[in-house]
Amino acid sequence: MPRGRRGLRRYPRCIDRTLCDNRGVASLAGKRALVLGVANERSIAWAIAKQLAGEGCRLALTFLGETLERRVRPLAAEIGAELVLPCDVADDAQLDALFAELGGAWDGALDIVVHAIAFANREDLQGRFVDTSRAGFRLALDVSAYSLVALTRGALPLMRAAGGGSVVTLSFAGSQRVFPNYNVMGVAKAALESCVRYLAADVGPDGVRVNAISAGPIKTLSAAGIRNFRDMLHIAGERAPLRRNVSTDDVANMATALLGPAGSGVTGQVIYVDAGLSTLGV
Ligand code: NAD
Repeated sequence: MPRGRRGLRRYPRCIDRTLCDNRGVASLAGKRALVLGVANERSIAWAIAKQLAGEGCRLALTFLGETLERRVRPLAAEIGAELVLPCDVADDAQLDALFAELGGAWDGALDIVVHAIAFANREDLQGRFVDTSRAGFRLALDVSAYSLVALTRGALPLMRAAGGGSVVTLSFAGSQRVFPNYNVMGVAKAALESCVRYLAADVGPDGVRVNAISAGPIKTLSAAGIRNFRDMLHIAGERAPLRRNVSTDDVANMATALLGPAGSGVTGQVIYVDAGLSTLGV
């Protein structure tokens, strides 16, 4: 390590333009971040958006449908989000419009995408997995897994223009092991985690990183759709090595790390934020 005039270590200036502000200091300040998945103040996406705003990011939030628009707009205003845009990830035309709008507003550049979206029909989140219909299977995998592929593809030209970028999605341990009633969503999360690895390999040469956070159970709107979710929450909190459930802030802490300088060498990974639950054998 070279030493400066006072004999202090001189650390090399950050050479990754995606991570540095114009003074060469690693920072998230001024980064342009698209956050998808805010439904209300309990959403994991909301905790992440708040932290990114606190780090000085410029934010765009999306909403699904008019009902959620009424909830999301006031939240967006609270954190000074610059853009609030409609986006149903199952609709290619809406995805095209989203990236056109972002490109126009942010000089054709984007640094961060947070994908905190999942959906399955309520009847597919109870009973036996073997009874999943073809339509239900297709819908769950389209909205919860394929959407990451479509979003990463849409974001890529803007991230190239920014000199690189970072994408984070949200998964659950039901991708690897069987959780009662999680059913088709477990299969969708397995596909999502595999998408993370394939996408990371594709876009890595452009300086774009793609990672997933596998969160422990948290009481949110989506989680309420899983039958007996309360039981899962209770058992996880009692048994996890930290003897508690994780919060949306716990997840946001890791997302902020992965999206920022702390995650500079990390891509294609699934990082568990689950109070240690996944380490237990029985
Ligand atoms: P949430 O209900 O607050 O967020 C889910 C979001 O998905 C909502 O904003 C909803 O509008 C959006 N969405 C659904 N279908 C969509 C579509 N077609 N187009 C665009 N948006 C759509 O719940 P959450 O728990 O914060 O979920 C965020 C992510 O975290 C999901 O991927 C979920 O699977 C994952 N996750 C949740 C938990 C948990 O226990 N809550 C645990 C691990 C992972």
